[in-house]
Amino acid sequence: MVLAEAESAVTASATCSCRLARHSWPACRRAFKLLSCGAVLAVTTTLALPSLAQVAQPARPPSSGGWSAQIKHHPTASAKPRATAIRISGDATRTRVSLDVNRPITANTFILDAPYRAIIDIPELEFHLPAYGANSVAGLVKDFRYGQFDTGRSRVVIDLTAPATIQNATFTAPNGNQPGILSFDIVRVAAADFRALRGTSEPTATPPQQQLRTGRHEEGPAAQAAAQASISPSLTPPGTASTPPQPKQRPVVLIDPGHGGIDPGTVGAGGLNEKSVTLAVAKEVRTLLLAGRRLDVFLTREFDNFVSLDQRVQLSRQYQADLFVSIHADSLAEKDLAGAIRGATVYILSERASDDKARRVAEKENAADIAAGLAAVPASAEDQVRSILLDLVQRETANYSTSFRNLLLSSMRGRVPLAKDPQRSAAFKVLKQDEVPAVLIELGYMSNPEDLARLGKPDGQRQLATAIAASITTFFANREARANR
Ligand SMILES: [Zn+2]
Repeated sequence: MVLAEAESAVTASATCSCRLARHSWPACRRAFKLLSCGAVLAVTTTLALPSLAQVAQPARPPSSGGWSAQIKHHPTASAKPRATAIRISGDATRTRVSLDVNRPITANTFILDAPYRAIIDIPELEFHLPAYGANSVAGLVKDFRYGQFDTGRSRVVIDLTAPATIQNATFTAPNGNQPGILSFDIVRVAAADFRALRGTSEPTATPPQQQLRTGRHEEGPAAQAAAQASISPSLTPPGTASTPPQPKQRPVVLIDPGHGGIDPGTVGAGGLNEKSVTLAVAKEVRTLLLAGRRLDVFLTREFDNFVSLDQRVQLSRQYQADLFVSIHADSLAEKDLAGAIRGATVYILSERASDDKARRVAEKENAADIAAGLAAVPASAEDQVRSILLDLVQRETANYSTSFRNLLLSSMRGRVPLAKDPQRSAAFKVLKQDEVPAVLIELGYMSNPEDLARLGKPDGQRQLATAIAASITTFFANREARANR
């Protein structure tokens, strides 16, 4: 971010938190832990929170101009702390990151690799920051995301251009009109040093949660898996539909709105997020199907919350799904092709992608957990055995997936635009399900102006949902007819 923008962001945040000026803040307690190896500084800053009464007064509207114009203003009181600005400055050797918040917060920061990312774990915040896609970056910071990660927890994930450590982490308490500032330096280190420092940590002796708090690098498959488990969100997302009926009275359809929370998915021009489109369409599909009263329908998420890919598959098992439909929207990085390439595509699982484009789409969708700041877990020998077993089971399941894909495409044809070659297959993690027919729909291209317009409007979303719901109804009607033969 350029300095002028940074200044306007500070101005806005100061305006938003002006009501705090009259209150003296409780004494704060700060604890910074520096690892002996110096590779990663994890910050645990604990400060007493003010009472709700202290923050329950209306705020003045933010000033306009520059970045501050994009900061949303919420005049009502909120129980959650608010992040009002993020500033990134520096060069490719040292980059300073500062996050303005209106109240003291506790933060844990750590670095992950494959790819290199700096993670800030914080209590659940309201993010009043510029829309996705408007992020200004500098130095070692390639991109960043922020949002809900788990119940009561938010996260900022900063994509780095090189291996790095975190240094000089501080939290300056709010003071008068000035917001509180969580800040730290991201300092570049050589890849060899990063690897060597990883080798000096003792992850297996430390409980995963403590690793997170002390900022140690996770190392080795076991430690990475343990760390992943420790920071994975709870299985049942907040507000998820109630427990499925036992025993099942009707076939169960699980609709999977892609992305959510800290992971926005693809971001279209104007700031439309894939995660919002997929949720809107999924809910519409559910409404249409429930009106038919022949199916039980659940969603893998109800709100703007993060659900990992593994959890989506687990939910399919938990709900004893008879059909799993994952909903996404695609985009093209190549701007010269964006105008010409559009339409929906339906994928089924295949270890070998139907073509290069399908392989790239699967890689992108499979990176959702990485985008949310989960540690990369290498495929273990156990996974390989499991995938061989899966192959055997899936031969039959694959037939049903293929047949549903055909139904879906014929239902969509004529109702919504289809891609040139809409029947594809690739190794999507979320489709790796033992006995459940599963497809992944890319509703269209958010890089294409016409598709984007359809995806962003309730009418367009309804058209897509209608086509999807009709094919699901036909799939189960056919199944019932076969069973009654
Ligand atoms: Zn997606």
